[in-house]
Amino acid sequence: MDSLPLSLAKALLRCPSVTPEEGGALSFIESVLKEAGFEVHRPVFSEPGTPDVENLYARYGTGNPYLLFAGHTDVVPPGDLSRWRHEPFSGEIEDGELYGRGAVDMKGGIACMMAAALDFIRENPDFDGSIGFLITGDEEGPAVNGTVKLLEWAKGRGERFDHCILGEPTNPNQLGDMIKIGRRGSLTGRIVVEGKQGHVAYPHLADNPIPGMMRLIEGLLREPLDHGTHHFDASNLEMTTVDVGNPASNVIPAEVRATFNIRFNDLWTPESLESEIARRLSEAAGNSVRYTLRMEPTNAIAFLTPPNEFVGFIADAIEAETGIHPKLSTTGGTSDARFIVKHCPVVEFGLVGQTMHQIDERVAIADLDRLAAIYRKVLNTYFVPSLRG
Ligand SMILES: [Zn+2]
Repeated sequence: MDSLPLSLAKALLRCPSVTPEEGGALSFIESVLKEAGFEVHRPVFSEPGTPDVENLYARYGTGNPYLLFAGHTDVVPPGDLSRWRHEPFSGEIEDGELYGRGAVDMKGGIACMMAAALDFIRENPDFDGSIGFLITGDEEGPAVNGTVKLLEWAKGRGERFDHCILGEPTNPNQLGDMIKIGRRGSLTGRIVVEGKQGHVAYPHLADNPIPGMMRLIEGLLREPLDHGTHHFDASNLEMTTVDVGNPASNVIPAEVRATFNIRFNDLWTPESLESEIARRLSEAAGNSVRYTLRMEPTNAIAFLTPPNEFVGFIADAIEAETGIHPKLSTTGGTSDARFIVKHCPVVEFGLVGQTMHQIDERVAIADLDRLAAIYRKVLNTYFVPSLRG
């Protein structure tokens, strides 16, 4: 017979919930959690120009501390179906691995959270505190009608969380490798250098913008933004494109456009970075380069949940179950944790990310059972002080 984490994961994988489709995934979670005594809500959020998206919020218990599990049931499209070993929404098993879109990112993680919570509540129905689920269907898409609005909705109802575990796949190679205790921020900027178009044989009648852009880029890249912090790598500015789009070899172009993206640590805010970029460009430009700089709005700030007792609970549970001492990391892209951190401390730990978003996304069944056991241990230590080591 399938273990509880496996049977929950299989059922979730069979729901075709490509963003923004609910695909039956949230309804399945709702029915399972209701059965276990959770109060479940299904808010739908809208925004002009984006599809309506269904979300789920569930809570068991009324007291504190309140531990929240967060995640998303939406998945990226499967891609070329003929290249999949098994149909991506069928939940097939081969050689001890469960196949399907969302196996690790992150229906598998949600299945483990649910299994852990159900088991804990079965054994401790009257525990002091609350366990919640904050599950969105809008993480892989525009992410407009998802976690941000769901958190605000919950706050509006008076919900106050003490800690959150987000179950994104955080492990690079094997279960237990890595907990994410923060994330870098992301900021994109666009530069346009203006010149004057003309004939290459008559350069005195034109003004080539390319050398000016080269000076600006040189000025941006000359010095590192910082040298990193105890928990963060150095911030990085990466030029992502430089465009002239001039097909003629005898024409001096009128303008050059360039784009850069910065992944920044907690030494910076988007505002402080923007003024640093403006300073570097103006210094490089002097009086001779005519340019404009436009920074795109960002909601991806850098944040850190300082390693504390809560992070310790998770690290200890991981080590007890896997024998691995997890690395506390802030690497990788952005995640919904950047929104959750405005409401409570958040730590990310989930499955192994190797096949996420790929053809043949899959998870080892043993990993599902072990991750559920890790979450289960965390619930014990979190809610039952006498079990703390
Ligand atoms: Zn994800």
